[in-house]
Amino acid sequence: MTQLSDRVLNMATSATLAMAAKTRELKAEGKDIIGLSLGEPDFNTPDYIKDAAIQAINDNYNSYTPVDGYVELKDAIITKFKRDNNLNYKHSQIVVSTGAKQSLANIAAVMLNKGDEVILPCPYWVSYSDIVKLNEGVPVEVKTSIDNDFKLTPQQLEAAITPKTKMIWYSSPCNPSGSVYSKDELRALADVLQKYPNIIVVSDEIYEHINFIGGHASMAQFDDMFDRTVTVNGVSKAFAMTGWRIGYIGAPEVIARACTKMQGQITSGANCIAQRAVITALNESPSRVQFMIDEFKVRRELILGLLNDIEGFKTNVPEGAFYVFPDVSFFFGKTLKGQKIENATDFSLYLLEHANVATVTGVAFGSPDCIRISYAASQEQIIEAIKRIKEAVS
Ligand code: PMP
Ligand code: GLU
Repeated sequence: MTQLSDRVLNMATSATLAMAAKTRELKAEGKDIIGLSLGEPDFNTPDYIKDAAIQAINDNYNSYTPVDGYVELKDAIITKFKRDNNLNYKHSQIVVSTGAKQSLANIAAVMLNKGDEVILPCPYWVSYSDIVKLNEGVPVEVKTSIDNDFKLTPQQLEAAITPKTKMIWYSSPCNPSGSVYSKDELRALADVLQKYPNIIVVSDEIYEHINFIGGHASMAQFDDMFDRTVTVNGVSKAFAMTGWRIGYIGAPEVIARACTKMQGQITSGANCIAQRAVITALNESPSRVQFMIDEFKVRRELILGLLNDIEGFKTNVPEGAFYVFPDVSFFFGKTLKGQKIENATDFSLYLLEHANVATVTGVAFGSPDCIRISYAASQEQIIEAIKRIKEAVS
């Protein structure tokens, strides 16, 4: 019998991707499933970006690229960081990877020794915990409360820090809660970190542009945090480019160099055609993708209105990203259509079976009272999905 490594056997399957696969399977069987499980814009990649990729193919961009990305792409990333975030990175601080997911995997691989702790405010993005564990780190989950908009407080951060704390990872706008940290809130967390100069912050800003309140704040904007923050970003979300697989970091040079060394042994660098397309995506004004953000905002109002009408769904008001993350613990211990609901996983599976709507259990995000519903779907699909959910739980 094939004996797989403990490493992979102990790793959870990505819950978001597993639910997406299940949705595809059920659809292929002819079931009318509405998939609200995957965080994937339902728009096409804009034509001006696609044209740049076609041009790159015709211009014979076929070869291996520099491991950390084309110089012209680094130029575009540096311009973007300056233009959108007022961050001044040098070329030596930028690493382009095969998606922000790989950027995060690189960071864990180059930073963690066995037993090092990584603070993860809950809810956290699904893969953080397993990427940390895969690299022998210890995720330290800190529960936040829906009443505080699922945000980590300075007191909670301070209480979670131990001599073994190596990093803190968070996303803002947050997947799955949609919470957006203000500059003042980040400053308050940075003030705590001043006492612990060895802790590195990993600030995942992949939803930066999908922000309904304006004023995206980056941890690295504070002069005293710049040299200890890794800013993670990518094009999957704002540019509807999930399958193109390009993410990037701006990081302290020593970390950037280590990430380059790491991916030099693992991928040799990101896809050449996709990199050329991303040069155009980042050099153009973000206003060219504003139409998608406007549409997400309309959908947010729509889904919040519909969910507020269902007893047992308690939501915060997400200020960014394209998810709602309702607390559904009201249903725990209840029996629906003969099925006992013990937890969020049961509830999410119940919705799949009885409402034909795919969501993701909050367990995967470290918040077991909640489920995640993606509204990166058409308004018609959202209306129909929430109608079905309402019928299934009434
Ligand atoms: N971070 C967060 C918070 C995400 O939601 C995602 C989902 N795609 C990623 C990172 C990874 O993005 P990608 O690998 O597609 O660039
Ligand atoms: N980030 C998206 C999500 O949370 C895509 C899935 C994934 O990369 O795991 O659904």
